[in-house]
Amino acid sequence: MRSHPAEYDFASPGSLAGVLERLDSEPGEWLPVAGGTEVMVQYGAGRLRARRLLNLWNIVDLRQITETSEHLSIGGGCTFAQLRGHVSVQEHFPLLAQAASWTGGIANQNRATIAGNIVNASPAADSPPALLVYEAELELISARGTRRIAYADFHLGYKKTALQPRELLLAIHLQKRFAGWFRYAQKTGARNAQAISKICVAAVGKLRDGRVEALHIGMGAVAPTPLRLRKTEEALLGTILTEDAIANGRRMLLTEIAPIDDIRSSAEYRRQVAANLLEDMLRNFAAKGNAA
Ligand SMILES: Cc1cc2nc3c(=O)[nH]c(=O)nc-3n(C[C@H](O)[C@H](O)[C@H](O)COP(=O)(O)OP(=O)(O)OC[C@H]3O[C@@H](n4cnc5c(N)ncnc54)[C@H](O)[C@@H]3O)c2cc1C
Repeated sequence: MRSHPAEYDFASPGSLAGVLERLDSEPGEWLPVAGGTEVMVQYGAGRLRARRLLNLWNIVDLRQITETSEHLSIGGGCTFAQLRGHVSVQEHFPLLAQAASWTGGIANQNRATIAGNIVNASPAADSPPALLVYEAELELISARGTRRIAYADFHLGYKKTALQPRELLLAIHLQKRFAGWFRYAQKTGARNAQAISKICVAAVGKLRDGRVEALHIGMGAVAPTPLRLRKTEEALLGTILTEDAIANGRRMLLTEIAPIDDIRSSAEYRRQVAANLLEDMLRNFAAKGNAA
């Protein structure tokens, strides 16, 4: 450990109201900690700038999954173990259950929360592509009230988000409207388990009379933020997925991604793999039609 515990304050108000009050009275002073799987890595490496940490782990209001016939709401403090084991997540949002099962190993999934994954804002995180394609909405809360924002508008730039210092991510809201849609997800990493993605992708779509009626594609690790591939989607909408259409999709994808070289991969590798994954997705989509 390159950090010393004596240099840190750790407060545990034990209630949502208590946490929000701290964030409101001293905005920017306190860093919320949920599962700690990001924060503790920074702490261990001596890179944690925040000195005052605020415990979210025991806040039950953040741990609920509630549903109606049309919606599913996931508390920000739900762990990936909770998500991958939840019947309605599996049934209505299987790409999210899949992403949850890809996020580190079992020990990590028992601590890692979905809000931590979102707010940490890594472009390579596994849950964002699924949240993008399911068009999730985020509910943010402060001592002054709540507001909702489309997840697609949450990431403003590399590690920059719309979350204000007084706010917490309270819940993720999803509409149950993807029954029968084709779905696809892939993660490429250095090995099959416990690897951060070199590229991750999620997609859902619908064909009508052999033409693309709807298509949502989300990708990670190809831009400064998790990316919804809107130009590629638009180029494919209304088309029959012929060789030409697939080649056009590949071309369009390469105009809208901007991957970088880093310790996990090179930009060129990422460009190739992103295009190959798109092609694989489209071939599966064409072959299977709807529900995959
Ligand atoms: C061994 C290991 C393997 C991993 N593998 C993967 C992987 O394969 N894929 C992947 O995507 N990630 C992976 N991760 C990263 C990590 O587990 C996830 O990002 C996790 O979801 C973070 O959640 P947490 O609750 O632990 O966040 P924390 O570390 O507690 O917090 C992370 C950030 O989120 C903020 N935060 C947390 N909750 C809230 C909230 N409710 N409101 C506002 N802000 C909040 C914190 O202030 C902090 O800035 C791995 C990590 C480890 C240590």
